[in-house]
Amino acid sequence: MALLALLAACGSPPQPPPPASPEPPTAGLVDPDTACLRDLAAANATFQPLGSFGRGSCRIANPVRISGGPLAWNHPGILTCRMARTLIHFETDVVQPLALKHFHQAVVRIDHFGTYDCRVRRTETTVAANRLGTSKGGRLSEHAMGRAIDLAGFELADGTVVSVKKDWHAGGQRGAFLHEVARASCRVFNVVLTPNHDRLHQDHIHLDIGPNTLCGY
Ligand SMILES: [Zn+2]
Repeated sequence: MALLALLAACGSPPQPPPPASPEPPTAGLVDPDTACLRDLAAANATFQPLGSFGRGSCRIANPVRISGGPLAWNHPGILTCRMARTLIHFETDVVQPLALKHFHQAVVRIDHFGTYDCRVRRTETTVAANRLGTSKGGRLSEHAMGRAIDLAGFELADGTVVSVKKDWHAGGQRGAFLHEVARASCRVFNVVLTPNHDRLHQDHIHLDIGPNTLCGY
C-alpha cells in the first residue's frame, strides 16, 4: 500500500522536451514584383516583363508589356505590373458584371488610346501653352509612370462597339453602361476622369493609380 502511494505521488516520468519548432518558412517571402507577375500569369494575361524602361525622369522599374488580360486589348500597353493587375481586376469584377447587367452578354475587347507616355499632365492650360509655344513644362503625367490608361470603349460579344466618344453623352443603354463603369471605377482606381471632367477627356476615360485621388465622374 505504501509503495502504491509513493508511485502515485511520483506521477508519470518527466516527458522529453517537445521537438524544436521548424524554421519559419522563407518560401512565403516573395518579391512583390514576382508575386504580381504570378498574378498576371494566373489571370491568363498575355504579357512580357521589361525590366527597367524609359529614360530620365520617365524611367520606370519592372513594367510589363501587356496585350490582353482575361479580355483582348485593341493594342498592347506598357504599365507597371501593379497597374496591369488592377486592370485585370477591373475587367473581371467591374466591366464584365456590368456588361451582363446592361447587355446580357460579355465584353470581348477593351479599346484604349494609350498607356505609358513620357509627358507632362495635359490640362486645358498646358495644352493651350503648348499650342502657343509658351509651355513651361509641368508635372509629369501618371502616364509617364506607367500607372495610367486612356480607355476609349469596349466591344461586346455580338460585335457591338460601345464608344466613350459616341455614347457617353448619347444616353441609352450604352451610355448608361459607360456611366456605371466610370462610377464603379472610382472604387478601383485613384483617379477617374471622364467626358464630364473637361474638354480634353471627351473621347476617353482616364484611369490611374497614382498618388492623387479624384473621381471626375
Ligand atoms: Zn490619361
